[in-house]
Amino acid sequence: MRRATRRVMVGNVGVGGTAPVVIQSMTNTDTADVFGTAQQVAELYRAGSEIVRITVNTREAAAAVPKIKERLAQLNLDVPLVGDFHFNGHKLLTEVPECAAALDKLRINPGNVGKGARRDEQFASLIEIACKYQKPVRIGVNWGSLDQSLLARLMDENAKRAEPKDATGLMREAMVTSALESAAQAESLGLPGDAIILSCKVSGVQDLIAIYRDLSVRSDYPLHLGLTEAGMGSKGIVASTAALAVLLQEGIGDTIRISLTPEPGGDRTREVVVAQEILQTMGLRAFVPMVVACPGCGRTTSTVFQELAQDIQTYVRARMPEWQLRHQGVENMTLAVMGCVVNGPGESKHANLGISLPGTGEEPVAPVYADGERITTLRGENIAAEFRNMIDAYVEKTYAKYS
Ligand code: SF4
Repeated sequence: MRRATRRVMVGNVGVGGTAPVVIQSMTNTDTADVFGTAQQVAELYRAGSEIVRITVNTREAAAAVPKIKERLAQLNLDVPLVGDFHFNGHKLLTEVPECAAALDKLRINPGNVGKGARRDEQFASLIEIACKYQKPVRIGVNWGSLDQSLLARLMDENAKRAEPKDATGLMREAMVTSALESAAQAESLGLPGDAIILSCKVSGVQDLIAIYRDLSVRSDYPLHLGLTEAGMGSKGIVASTAALAVLLQEGIGDTIRISLTPEPGGDRTREVVVAQEILQTMGLRAFVPMVVACPGCGRTTSTVFQELAQDIQTYVRARMPEWQLRHQGVENMTLAVMGCVVNGPGESKHANLGISLPGTGEEPVAPVYADGERITTLRGENIAAEFRNMIDAYVEKTYAKYS
């Protein structure tokens, strides 16, 4: 059960309230490169990112934002764009008002708005712009750039306590306080409460869980979840999943981002796929048919089984853009690709469509099951192509067409 939150509209996407958990991602292109950034936004959006954030760090980047939006419109893509501002956001948005008008949300980091007296002035300037252009704001606290004056104040207060918090407890408290005080300040400056989303990103799993649990009981703003600087490859995926799964299971989190560091030359859309897989494997949303595959073991006789599992996974993802336009509910389909008779028939019967390949010592045939019934047996060199055809036929027959 999701915690009750206010609902915030980011472009055409609802965040919070009863809306499903929304997937976000962020480009890593130079935003001043209109074509390159629009291209990557389009790739992320087509992969399933429902909101995309872009860096706005220079005047050139700010000036590029409306052009990126135009380019996306030419591609027929209505992608909610979030501008990520640090240090000079007040200046850029004042000097390039078209940027504020084109964006669907502003992300402000309270630790990077300014120092001393200028902090409040520059924060007020950002909120004034958000109000003027009716844009929601994410107040995004990050441990790496925590407001140092706030931290110093809390350290002083902590030192006077009979039982002071330890350094970890104090850090967690500072993160939550920074988000809540900034949100209260924004509301006092006129930003509606239903135009505020909060995040408090850290790179430690236990810190993230503790901070968001605290944040969730102390406010009803929608929360954007993400483990920052999660890292590369399996480490980044495992750490993000470990943290987000606990919170999502408790109903905490209205949008998510998986902050993976791509391999050099790697595909940025990987983080979107991982976000979808987290939500889908937890049963919170469905995006693409799931392929159940056994890990293989000493009973698997060759690499045919792994190749078929990979082939089918890739195939359904490639077919999904067309299927989802034509077939209602196809994203809920499950497929099984299994390695031998031990669990193959059983798991295949539980799937909508499953195939059980022959293991060591078995007859070289592959029974196929549809909705629990054995419907045919494949053999020979073309099992993969034949199974793909059967998937197409199953989709055509089973999932109603949109009229
Ligand atoms: S289904 Fe067969 S091949 Fe796959 S892991 Fe189980 S015993 Fe091994």
